[in-house]
Amino acid sequence: MYINLSPPLQVALSKRSQETGQTPAEIVTIALRQYLEIDEETLFQTSTIGALVEGVYRGDLTIAELRNYGDFGLGTFNDLDGEMVVLDGQVWQLRSDGRAYPVADEVKTPFATVTFWQADWTATLDQPLTYEELQRYLDTLLPSGNIFYAIKISGQFRSVRTRTIERQNQPTRLVEAAARQPVHEFFDVQGDLVGFWTPSYMKTVNVPGYHFHFLSADRQQGGHVLDVCIERVDIGIDDTPRLRMALPDTEEFLGANLTRDTEQELHQAEK
Ligand SMILES: [Zn+2]
Repeated sequence: MYINLSPPLQVALSKRSQETGQTPAEIVTIALRQYLEIDEETLFQTSTIGALVEGVYRGDLTIAELRNYGDFGLGTFNDLDGEMVVLDGQVWQLRSDGRAYPVADEVKTPFATVTFWQADWTATLDQPLTYEELQRYLDTLLPSGNIFYAIKISGQFRSVRTRTIERQNQPTRLVEAAARQPVHEFFDVQGDLVGFWTPSYMKTVNVPGYHFHFLSADRQQGGHVLDVCIERVDIGIDDTPRLRMALPDTEEFLGANLTRDTEQELHQAEK
């Protein structure tokens, strides 16, 4: 299908393409999806956090497929090979050296959550806040604890402490893998926190409460956020009351025992 674009639209499109690294086709697809209200306010995820806690580290969804369901989100990669950040349609792999790498389309994920980012409202904070204080502030912004929200926090950070889980070559439980994870600390850094609020009643589906991954503004480093102190940030919040799940059609997932209560182990692994 060919569509003629006016010269000003073509200019704006190539400018956006240069800024974000997305192809013009990707930008047009996202814009049309928003305009036509397809998959609006929908969270897409593959597998469950309960399965990840049980050590189901291999999924069947490729990064190319994941990008059809969202341009913003987080997750991990097969064999737990680092932390995932999806931002502006680009997928980044934050590996155990604390560095960020672009990801090939054919790489697979055992757990990821994405949505098409469209902020429903925004706020600015220009006072230093600890992670605890930031979370209490976010509590006042969210109208309800009972639906999912995608949250983007961009700006200047005094410090960010992250962990980046290491590729697992042996079967482990998530809590064991997390106990050996390298921790990195960044000071006076610009970047983005990409994450979600998940209601506590969803605790076997996704990580309950706030869950953020950090990516520096130069797209060079980041990880799963353990602690943060903000300096000056813009906050965007996207209501996502709909959930669409794709459960892996793999022997490992289908054969896993997902009846156990994994709340304690998840808390230990994630915090
Ligand atoms: Zn994480």
